[in-house]
Amino acid sequence: MSEFLGPTTTAIIVEVTRMSLLLAFLSAIFVPLELTFAARPKKVFRAEFLIDLGYYVINSFVVAFVLSFPVGIIVWATHKTIPAVWLASTAAWPLWARALGGLVAGEIGYYWGHRLSHEIPFLWDFHAIHHSAEEMDYLVSSRAHPIDLVFSRLCALAPIYALGLGAVNGTEGIKILLVVTFVGLIWGNFIHANLKWRFGPLEWLISTPGFHHWHHTKSGPINRNYSTMLPWMDWLFGTLHLPANELPSDYGIKAKLPESLIGQLAYPLFPPSSVSAPAPATPSEKTPMPWHKPEH
Ligand SMILES: [Zn+2]
Ligand SMILES: [Zn+2]
Repeated sequence: MSEFLGPTTTAIIVEVTRMSLLLAFLSAIFVPLELTFAARPKKVFRAEFLIDLGYYVINSFVVAFVLSFPVGIIVWATHKTIPAVWLASTAAWPLWARALGGLVAGEIGYYWGHRLSHEIPFLWDFHAIHHSAEEMDYLVSSRAHPIDLVFSRLCALAPIYALGLGAVNGTEGIKILLVVTFVGLIWGNFIHANLKWRFGPLEWLISTPGFHHWHHTKSGPINRNYSTMLPWMDWLFGTLHLPANELPSDYGIKAKLPESLIGQLAYPLFPPSSVSAPAPATPSEKTPMPWHKPEH
């Protein structure tokens, strides 16, 4: 059939099919789980469901057709600046070490990109869209301004490429990138899901809804729990907040954003001056790791 269609039309049809199948796959996993293990009562088709579906579609196209350009610049810059001998040495690591290294490097990049999105007002205006969700479920993971999405993806990918763990070294590198991207996608949906699951003593190791929901609280500070998969990264940098068996009482931000998708996409370009970035975390908010004894 593709000989009757232009390459652009074919690529769009392929992407629409891919994003539809992926959404069906994610919904088949998370809707039954959320109905069975809900942290709080919520309708599947909540008030902002269609808005978040719109972000899902837009961001799927952005990832498919736009992201490769800035990533290409990072790959080019990597080849220009990182010594070839270093890239060759990491290329020789076993697959598991490359995958683990890619995960940790990607998390460090993501953590700092995310933290800067809270601390720099210009970046916060874009990131505020993600925080404006007033109900949490798996689809809130898609709720992001495309510029915020591209920025955070580049922050995560840059150290992966700088360490030679990206797709620059043939099919193995591509495999690593696909695994990290797919696991990251599932986990991004999981930590936003309306699930009461907690991982007990392992919660400092791998993120849960209980960890990330505190990053969306409306009534408390949100400048903590920046990492997406590895909460110990927040502990390392002094921003971990992980109270046992507790979830926030509400979600969202105090600023009122436009209700329409178009209005929200334009909002960061014309933000009201009253919206400012949250203050940096204070050391007193830091949660100790499980092996630390309480001080008296
Ligand atoms: Zn955030
Ligand atoms: Zn989030």
